[in-house]
Amino acid sequence: MRIAVLALQGAFIEHEQVLQRLGVETFEVRQLSDWQQPKDALILPGGESTVQMRLLKELGLFEPIRQAIVDGLPVLGTCAGMILLSEGYLGTMHIRVRRNAYGRQLGSFHTMGRVDGIGNDVPMTFIRAPYIDAVLAADCTPIAQVDGHIVAACQGHQIATAFHPELDDDMRLHQLLVDMIKL
Ligand code: GLN
Repeated sequence: MRIAVLALQGAFIEHEQVLQRLGVETFEVRQLSDWQQPKDALILPGGESTVQMRLLKELGLFEPIRQAIVDGLPVLGTCAGMILLSEGYLGTMHIRVRRNAYGRQLGSFHTMGRVDGIGNDVPMTFIRAPYIDAVLAADCTPIAQVDGHIVAACQGHQIATAFHPELDDDMRLHQLLVDMIKL
């Protein structure tokens, strides 16, 4: 099993470390030739979605990645990665997101919450995070809420979280991605 981690910008190393702890091989995607390696899943990390979008397009990665997800490649997008999956970006997940939804003062915070399909007491670290404004299709399911806002969703083989599971000591979301590969 090999999982590709988009490594253009942002918090990608932390994802690699979690996957390594789970015993999963990873490789970084920095350019098209990296992407062409065999892979069983993809992680889109947090960072700055505008920068990531620009680089995806400049490097010719946007369309191949979009197509691979449409064709069924399991994917976990966290924070900016969730934005990339949403409508108006890669658009593979039928969600509409609000960027920097918590404003400046509440820009970063930590809480614990339930994630359906994973369990209770999931640590959630939010850093200038988006939340999901609207779920636009019946095949997309909200799986976590904080203060009445959707902060994680699942659509088939796609998982999106507004928070950063890679920054806490809980590997259940990454395990969920690994389990999707085995399906
Ligand atoms: N604010 C960033 C954006 O809009 C996301 C922040 C993050 O990924 N931690 O892209």
